[in-house]
This record gives sequence, structure tokens and C-alpha cells, in this order.
Amino acid sequence: MSHFTIACRKCGKELEDAYCAFCEHCANALLVTRYREKKFREEAAEGIWRFSNWLPVHKAAFPQPSPIVFRSEGFAGKIGLEELYVVFCGYWPERGANLLTCTFKEFEAATVIANAMENHIDGLVVASAGNTARAFTHLSSVSGFQAVIIVPTMCLGEMWNLEEKPSAPTIALSDGDYSDSIAAARRISSLSGMPFEGGVKNIAKRDGLGIALLEAVACMKKLPRHYFQAVGSGAGAIATWEMSERFLGDGRFGSVPPALHLAQNLPFAPMTKAYLKKSREIFEEDLDPELIGEITTRVLSNRYPAYGVSGGVFDALEATGGSMYGVTNSEVYRAMEMFEAAEGIDIVPAAGVAAAALIQAVRQGKIRPDEPVLLNITGGGEKRLLEDRQAHRVDPVVISKKITDEEIRELLCSLKKN
Ligand SMILES: [Zn+2]
Repeated sequence: MSHFTIACRKCGKELEDAYCAFCEHCANALLVTRYREKKFREEAAEGIWRFSNWLPVHKAAFPQPSPIVFRSEGFAGKIGLEELYVVFCGYWPERGANLLTCTFKEFEAATVIANAMENHIDGLVVASAGNTARAFTHLSSVSGFQAVIIVPTMCLGEMWNLEEKPSAPTIALSDGDYSDSIAAARRISSLSGMPFEGGVKNIAKRDGLGIALLEAVACMKKLPRHYFQAVGSGAGAIATWEMSERFLGDGRFGSVPPALHLAQNLPFAPMTKAYLKKSREIFEEDLDPELIGEITTRVLSNRYPAYGVSGGVFDALEATGGSMYGVTNSEVYRAMEMFEAAEGIDIVPAAGVAAAALIQAVRQGKIRPDEPVLLNITGGGEKRLLEDRQAHRVDPVVISKKITDEEIRELLCSLKKN
């Protein structure tokens, strides 16, 4: 018997251990994993696999380090918080942080790949705005699992790699954004027979992203009152909410989920702008692709986030008494500099968005100085990594979104030959 089932949040129907399932009955509702074991515990394993009773994976097939969690003194003191914990997802070997892609997306990629392998899937097509692609490229090499990566060319800057010739090929879309890459990935998936990773609907992706909260609670021995993270697709925020519900079900962690404080980079902040008006629908004018060109965090540039869907970001904010924040580019840079100066490690712009939102929340009195707060530094240590290792640019195959099915078939053949 599997240690989990998958159920629809809306109709409650349970499915057996199925790869990236969608509810057969409800078009617009996320499925969630229900673990048979209700008590949080760490197993005698390494890295993220210590939490495998609450991950949709039965055995550790390859190594995957976990994030580190520490109680901040420097940054906390600067902004006036007494109990700030940082979950640091990146490279900082002096502190034991060893994520070689410097992003929390490694937890997603590792969990998705391990879950797919157990479901006898041979390979996946992955669409990404950059950091997810980097994580899947790396994990494809670590695990020997096949992946085909699709990214918009505007996001290729995120696509560095420690290997000169990674095993997963990268396809770059010359005339589209992240959302167009998702559309291209779906077409490549249907023509190649390799499943699409599934985005936010993949339960393994969300449960993998929930590892940040698992590691935080393992360190804090309690749930934080407030949780801060930058959001693009919203998957990490939904994952945190879902994981916090498992802690509430345990019985030893109180009855109040952490309030989600989620941030986007202005002027492209469709979820922030919708939630400030308490709208479940995102406004069309806030999805203008021109706005994406103005933000410093392309990894947050998802035009179709899991916001209004049943069990999505809107519901997570409502259920936790959460808030959304808009952060300007200059606030992002200031927060990044402040964090690095205070803690001694560089962080990526998306993590700067979260840190800037925390600064806003303290200033606005939204959180009390003595409340336990968790800040998710979703990526960091890129500068630190380059002191130890050499990064390589990926060498992509460039296509147009107007590519025909015939051309996709030819492309897949040529990728196979290489
Ligand atoms: Zn359903």
C-alpha cells in the first residue's frame, strides 16, 4: 500500500498513486496529497529524503541536499525583528548549504523526478522561466533521468550550469515569454510522448517545494506565525499552505497556519494587483507582456499563475489571513544589498523581493516585532559558488513559437541522435 493518496480539494475524490493527475471531475481544482502518517517526523536518511513520509516518493534514488535554516541576527536586527528565521536555499558551504544550482527549485525537480521514476515515466518536458530549468538540468544529470527543457530566450541568463555538456537538451523560444514556453512544451510533450511536467498541478512539484517549511519546522520546533516569499506561478506559496495544513493535522503545532505574505516585482505584479482589490480574477491589463520587460526578476514573470483556481493562491491567502506586496526594482536591489551586508551571503533578486516585502510589512506594522517569522530565501550564493566553481552557459536549440508539428518531430529526432 502506498503511504499516500491523492485527493481533489473540490470534490474530495481520491485517486491511487497516479503521476501528475488532474481531477477527472473538476476542471478547475488542484489535487492534494494525503499522507497516511499524520505525525511529522524525520527519517534516518540524507538531505530532503529525511522527510519522505510526507513526500510522494517511496525511496531515495539519488542524493539531494536540503536547505539550511538559521535564526537571523544581522538582518533581523537591522529591520527590528526578534525572532526571524531564514530558510536559505542556495550555496553557502561555510554554513552547510550545498545547492549547486543556488535555487529552491532543486527540491521541486528532485521530488518530481523521483516521483516520475517510481511511476515508470522515462522522461519529462519542462517549461521554465529559468531557475526551474537550471534545477531540472542539474537533477537530470544527477539522477540519470531524461528531461527536455524549454525556456524563452529572454530567460537564458538564468541558464548557467556547472557542467559543460549537460545531458538534458535546452530549447529556447526566440519570440515568446514564459507562458509561450509552456504552450510549446505542451506541444513537444504530445508529439514526443514524454509527459509535460505539469506545472502547479503536479502534486510532487508542490510537495517538493514544501520542503522549505519542513526543514524550517525541524529547526524551529514550531510553525512560524508569518511566512514571506516571492511568487511567480504561486506553486511555492500553495505548497507552503498545504504543508502547514499537514502540521495542523499533526496536533502538536497549534491550530493557526502561518499567514502567507507573498510578493511580486512591480510593475509586473498581477496577483498583487488582483488581491489588493480582493479579486479572485486577475485583471487583463496587469498581464501586459511589456510590463515583464521592466522587472528585474524574470523568474517571477508567469502570466498564468495558479491564482484563482480552487486551492490556489487566492484561497491560500484567504485561509491564512495573508497579504500581497508589490516591490519596485530599487527596493529589490536595496534589500539584496542589506541582506548580504548583514548576513554575509549574496541572494538572488527573487529572494530580494521577499526580503523587501518583509521590510514593508515591519514598517507598516503588519507583523509584531516579537512574532516568529520565516523568510524564504529561494535562491542565493551564486557569487559564492563562482569562487569555487566555473559556470557554463547552456547551448540551446533556438526555435520560434510558430514552429510546425513536422519541424518539432525533426527537432526531436535530431536531439535523440545527439
Ligand atoms: Zn474534483
